[in-house]
Amino acid sequence: MKYAKSCAITLIVALLLCPWGRAGAEGGFIKWVDFNATAEVMNRCYELDVKSVKEKVHYNFVDLLAYLAMKNGNKFSYKRDLKNLNALIEKLDGGITMAEICGGNKYYKYYHEAYSSIFAEYIGFYRIEETGEVGYGLKAYFPLARGFWYSGSDDFGNSRTYGFKRVHLGHDMFGAIGTPVIAVEGGIVTELGWNRFGGWRIGIRSLDGLRYYYYAHLRKDKPYAEGLEKGKRVEGGQVIGYLGVTGYSFKENRNMKTRPHLHFGLQLIFDPSQEDGPGEIWINVYQLVRFLSKNKAAVKKDDNGGYFSCNLKKGINL
Ligand SMILES: [Zn+2]
Repeated sequence: MKYAKSCAITLIVALLLCPWGRAGAEGGFIKWVDFNATAEVMNRCYELDVKSVKEKVHYNFVDLLAYLAMKNGNKFSYKRDLKNLNALIEKLDGGITMAEICGGNKYYKYYHEAYSSIFAEYIGFYRIEETGEVGYGLKAYFPLARGFWYSGSDDFGNSRTYGFKRVHLGHDMFGAIGTPVIAVEGGIVTELGWNRFGGWRIGIRSLDGLRYYYYAHLRKDKPYAEGLEKGKRVEGGQVIGYLGVTGYSFKENRNMKTRPHLHFGLQLIFDPSQEDGPGEIWINVYQLVRFLSKNKAAVKKDDNGGYFSCNLKKGINL
């Protein structure tokens, strides 16, 4: 009995420590993701991907990032990662494939699946309808419009005390009240309205169902973009609302006593059991937001005191 108990404890501890802690035989979906890649490393992998898109050997962003996480044990450091990256590129240029380099590696497989689910729709071919321009690159957008100031720090996991003790599962993006909030990627609006923590907020689920984006504390009185409704589809880059400081109240339309900011969060959902409750996976988006800052949506004023986006990149298959 005692032995069985200690075995059970060992197993639980092993599962908790194990980064690819999956359900194994009973389903095999990812249970946890610590997203630690830095913007600098993402930028380098991105440059290599974009630069090589028409070359004989195309370096894939997710492949490169997963390889680095496998090599560095999910502890990113630019200098060392760059060294590993250069060595990998040399092998790929020499005709060795990713499958040959890390095909059977369980860490590579885990990171590849995790990053594939984060970046599924982020990089690819796109068309800008107004100009007809076709290109290849980042299609996902920074959560605030171009031309508006923003400041923030890596505040994921900080403790906060309203209601009950919870950790901070997102990134606070400080800015001016009324700054247009931009959909990072397209999807279906699944949450809209008041929430006692988030105030006026919007939840958008990606079309493949893997990502849930949460935008909270929107502007008092006029939080949302015209025509936004629960169940409706939005496009990446679209203006969805306006930065404000609402929330932390059971009563609707109340401002908090803090600086105006957008709370931006990203949840990964590999299985319906992770939609709600203790199985939820929220990743640290601070470095992701820094990476996305290279693609900010340009906006113009409309006739109702709001803003709309222009020259948006829409994903296409080539
Ligand atoms: Zn926040």
